[in-house]
Amino acid sequence: MPDSVQRMACDSTHIRPPYPGYFDHVGAQLEKDRQRARPPESEFDGARAELRAELATIVEELAPQLIALAKDLHDHPETAFDEHRSVAALVSLLNEHGIDAKADVFGVETAAVADLPGDAPDASSRRVAILSEYDALPGIGHACGHNVIAASGVGAFLALAQLRQRHPEAIPGRVRWLGTPAEEGHTGKEYMARGGAFEGLDAAIMIHPYGYDVTDQVWLGRRTLNVTFHGQPAHASAQPFMGVNALDAASIAYQGIGLLRQQMLPVDRVHTMMSEGGDRASIIVERAQLKMYVRSKYPDTLRDLSQRVENVCRGAALMTGCRVDIDWDEHPPSLPVRSNKELEARFAAAMVDRGRRILPGGVLPETIAASTDFGNVSYRVPGIHPLVKISDESVALHTAEFAQAAASPAAETAISDASFALAATALDFLSDDELAQAVAEEFEAAGGAVDVPSYFDAKDPS
Ligand SMILES: [Zn+2]
Ligand SMILES: [Zn+2]
Repeated sequence: MPDSVQRMACDSTHIRPPYPGYFDHVGAQLEKDRQRARPPESEFDGARAELRAELATIVEELAPQLIALAKDLHDHPETAFDEHRSVAALVSLLNEHGIDAKADVFGVETAAVADLPGDAPDASSRRVAILSEYDALPGIGHACGHNVIAASGVGAFLALAQLRQRHPEAIPGRVRWLGTPAEEGHTGKEYMARGGAFEGLDAAIMIHPYGYDVTDQVWLGRRTLNVTFHGQPAHASAQPFMGVNALDAASIAYQGIGLLRQQMLPVDRVHTMMSEGGDRASIIVERAQLKMYVRSKYPDTLRDLSQRVENVCRGAALMTGCRVDIDWDEHPPSLPVRSNKELEARFAAAMVDRGRRILPGGVLPETIAASTDFGNVSYRVPGIHPLVKISDESVALHTAEFAQAAASPAAETAISDASFALAATALDFLSDDELAQAVAEEFEAAGGAVDVPSYFDAKDPS
């Protein structure tokens, strides 16, 4: 061990930064896997080639407006449920193109909706939704690049609207645009879903910016948990034996979670902080609280892990004689994303048309995973949430560097490419009956629609 490392290891006056070597190993393997990987191929034809080509031309014409929209959002970031200016900007661009878009829908003020002019008024034809997110993060603005999502979703929708104007018979189905706020730290799409936003849809598609072009990446299901231990206060010196210590219960639960991690699935995560732990060292703590996030790769494993976490907390209460309140999901939980491979393959074909060598799912390491409320959409209707490269591979989401990337020339190219690819995927889905059938069959084979609001009511799958 070099001297400097040895000194750091023994020196409690400095932070010892985590050793970053893991990234080098993962990166080396990823590079090999990436060289071997090929974009997924679709066995379906999708829409007619000349219509897809015309979509590309339309997107080129729209690009300056889409880029201006993305820049405007980037310059005026708004956080979850507060995106009033952002949603107004999206709606007004659609209105300028003669589309009747409106905000404050499905019970969410900053949500929005528009239907493609010329859509059949009844439910006789297939319907696909294209989603736009637009919320930012507190303090660092569009560090998740939702301005790019917003512009790409609007771009795809406008491109399809213009295609129908030019060729009234070109789109044999219905297209809905949905403005979906409050993804960061919230589950805006779940509130919209409970307001009916995803009813009557046959598919829902969106993109997210990233450091890679990839059709699918692991997105973990996520629940939140507040655990409050109630004890009995006592003078910590004169009568400690008359106290019931809530902090002891919280401490045992915290450590129990630490031990539980050894037996969890490799990609699963539980993170915990102590949000209350007493007021004064001389009083046996009457009330202590842990706040947790519990994440897992599949809905049923998330349900199982939730039960195990809850058991640890109940055990800690029993050991200390405390009473415990277990409060799950202050906000609605997110399910993992269940991505539809048939739709992915059509999206990949469109990205290949744009000269992007998009990776299939399973190439990027699944241990580097977060969560999204699109998961809840993907368990209601077939959906995709592919990632579009706007930054260097090493740049992580939710950093100042990624916020910069979200306003870079690479983001501008990504908006054009993603607008085209989303529009082409929607057109393929509406045009190709065999593809649509395969999409539906895959969805059903994977378990079909799930009743998301009640999913975690049945607690123990065993
Ligand atoms: Zn994010
Ligand atoms: Zn995001």
